[in-house]
Amino acid sequence: MNQVDVTVIGGGPCGLFAVFYAGLRGMSVRLIDSLPELGGQLMALYPEKYVYDMPGFPKVLAKDLANNLAEQALQFNPEVILEETAETLVKTEDGYVIITASGRELPTKTIIISAGIGAFTPTRIGVAREEDLVGKGIFYGVKSKAEFAGKAVTIVGGGDSAFDWALNLEDVAGPMTLVHRRDVFKAHEDSVEKVRGSRVDFKLFYTVKELHGWEKLEGITLEHTTTKETHYHPTDAVVVNIGFKSSLGPLMDWGLDISKNQIQVDSKYETNLPGIFAVGDVCNFQEKLKLIATGVGEAATAVCFAKTRLDPTAKLYPGHSSDRDK
Ligand SMILES: Cc1cc2nc3c(=O)[nH]c(=O)nc-3n(C[C@H](O)[C@H](O)[C@H](O)COP(=O)(O)OP(=O)(O)OC[C@H]3O[C@@H](n4cnc5c(N)ncnc54)[C@H](O)[C@@H]3O)c2cc1C
Repeated sequence: MNQVDVTVIGGGPCGLFAVFYAGLRGMSVRLIDSLPELGGQLMALYPEKYVYDMPGFPKVLAKDLANNLAEQALQFNPEVILEETAETLVKTEDGYVIITASGRELPTKTIIISAGIGAFTPTRIGVAREEDLVGKGIFYGVKSKAEFAGKAVTIVGGGDSAFDWALNLEDVAGPMTLVHRRDVFKAHEDSVEKVRGSRVDFKLFYTVKELHGWEKLEGITLEHTTTKETHYHPTDAVVVNIGFKSSLGPLMDWGLDISKNQIQVDSKYETNLPGIFAVGDVCNFQEKLKLIATGVGEAATAVCFAKTRLDPTAKLYPGHSSDRDK
């Protein structure tokens, strides 16, 4: 992989704004996130909730805010690596190499850590051979709807993501089933009503007990939560949406000054490791506020200091973005 000016770890709101701002300042950027989609907590934890404290938006759905931030971030063509966790840090002569959980080596001159409350990993169903079938019928998100075209799809979960994917895949997938262990859903009422009125078949009070198929998934055994009755359910794909676990995990071993799961930064949002900045929920300083509105400001500031670190002739002050069209 080529060496970039800045690598942003974490594609939540603050990381996305850092990616945008670095692009605006003419820097080459790489973004890494452990999740299959961008947006961080906005998409993973509360996509259907309204956010009321964004400048310029009297109210905005978290998922719409995330999508707009992503669109803004991607306009300068950053390299985006999803479903990869930044795991190991190696110091080099002119920067760092980040090694991901799958062993990819990503050289970079500077780093902005916007890891929020840590790397999210999707909660597993917890059945035998689940890991073997990941990507061969077991999915924890949907990267491309085309992958599910004409296939029998089973969605597991009762939250917003499960219902969103049920609605999203309805026009491309073959037979669709939604499996949930209760008849009460965390998902927004409106989405539940829409899925109830669709062709999606509900299997309530069921859990997935067994996976069938060797090279690829062919079917699952469903078990009733109270009667324990089981039956075989043929399916090509299971999309699991039963939550996330988060952990700062690997970043704890990078030699950063961390206390109470937060990285200490100075007034430039730089950590104790030169050229490594931290912004958003993951960073700490006196009077820190964990809010998106303040976190994106931290991201813009950190980018400007990273810029002047790489190019001492560059101005710290970026100028007005509205002057770009002159
Ligand atoms: C229910 C709820 C409601 C909220 N409402 C509001 C609100 O109304 N207004 C407001 O301002 N704030 C609100 N917040 C808080 C707000 O969502 C957070 O402050 C914000 O998401 C922090 O953004 P971030 O970019 O710092 O981190 P996050 O959004 O946490 O994103 C961090 C990203 O980093 C990734 N990551 C972490 N470690 C690694 C690694 N090692 N490798 C690769 N990727 C990694 C994670 O997968 C994640 O995608 C709310 C939070 C919750 C839970």
